Amino acid sequence: MKILVVNAGSSSLKYQLIDMDGEKEMAKGLVERIGIEGSRLKHSAGEKKTEIVQEIPDHEAAAQLMLKILQDPEFGVIRSTDEIGAVGHRVLHGGSAFTASVIVNDAAKQAIRDCFPLGPLHNPANLMGIEACEKVMKGTPQVAVFDTAFHQTMPPKAYMYGVPKMYEEKLHVRRYGFHGTSHRYVSRRVCEFLGISPEGKKIIICHLGNGSSLSAVKDGKCQDTSMGLTPLEGLLMGTRCGSCDPAVVQFIANNPLKDDGTPVGHPVSVDDVLTMMNKKSGLLGISGKSSDCRDIDNLADAGDPDAILAREMLIYGIKKYIGSYAAAMGGVDIIVFTAGIGENNADLRAKVIEGLEFMGAKIDAEKNRTRSEAVISAEDSKVTVCVIPTNEEIMIARDTLDLVTTGKVRDN
Ligand code: AMP
Repeated sequence: MKILVVNAGSSSLKYQLIDMDGEKEMAKGLVERIGIEGSRLKHSAGEKKTEIVQEIPDHEAAAQLMLKILQDPEFGVIRSTDEIGAVGHRVLHGGSAFTASVIVNDAAKQAIRDCFPLGPLHNPANLMGIEACEKVMKGTPQVAVFDTAFHQTMPPKAYMYGVPKMYEEKLHVRRYGFHGTSHRYVSRRVCEFLGISPEGKKIIICHLGNGSSLSAVKDGKCQDTSMGLTPLEGLLMGTRCGSCDPAVVQFIANNPLKDDGTPVGHPVSVDDVLTMMNKKSGLLGISGKSSDCRDIDNLADAGDPDAILAREMLIYGIKKYIGSYAAAMGGVDIIVFTAGIGENNADLRAKVIEGLEFMGAKIDAEKNRTRSEAVISAEDSKVTVCVIPTNEEIMIARDTLDLVTTGKVRDN
């Protein structure tokens, strides 16, 4: 069966068509600037690449264009949309209602709507993507795969905030965690790769990209993760500040600064401060130059003190999470690096593991020169350290295939 994987944002729609017979990527693409001047579609099928610049007023038009290019005589890979067996959608927030992927029906759509306050930027866009595909592919099953689902096995002691309990009971204020599809894929794949069962294993997954999160996975189940009610909590990220004293919000709201460092002169709203914490902070905010870890490395290597600090803060933060998750699980057997930084930045991986010999983790500098699946720990390391490239699309496609063929999701 061919499965279309869709990730809809507020002005974008990313897609990948996967032939599940062999799990091969057939084509992928991105519709950008939906509803904005300069909208375009970038599409590739193997070596063939094309770009279409045209007006794309809404998600339905984007979905139509996606189907058109997928059937294009030159750049397409299917003859008819009937070849698409089902569509799997990435949905950011499933709240505590969804512990696994589901077939989209009216109740599921309402539950996604109910999570709008928890994921105000993403969930409405994700639902728009679902409804657009429903319209242009009538009768094709749609599946929702939630970024939060894998983390729903966290115990209350890990997911509760220390604010009055009624906020969780009445308003669902608690930690949910994100990147769940990646954490799930990587935690399964590393065991498959090492030829072991997840049962009895304590694994720490470091998903380090523009957005970053760590998870503690014991017996294949998530025990804790670093992101919270929103993806802002946890590690320092590309443009997000990660965890900080909540009183910082009040202080900055009362004493805001302009981008040039001069006082605004009047208080700003909490929303304004959170926008700054989400979009202008992290590596970008500390370095003042870039949110991209490659730029930070180049600048730091050239002696830029702010970039050096940004890099040190990131590494220090990852180390602290590894230490705390090892303590929470009563040890650690496997540490895995994944996503853009985790897969590609060998130097950062080495610096994260450096000094963790006390807990049995030691890296092999030669083995660490990898960008693909590999064990990178030394022979005498008690903790197995690995690189496992993430593949959220395949996980979404597998869940979609399972749900439409067997009605339930495999624990893979
Ligand atoms: P992601 O959000 O997973 O796409 O990851 C984006 C981050 O990965 C950025 O900070 C990039 O600097 C980093 N990254 C991506 N590719 C590389 C690479 N080849 N070498 C080093 N860092 C990379």
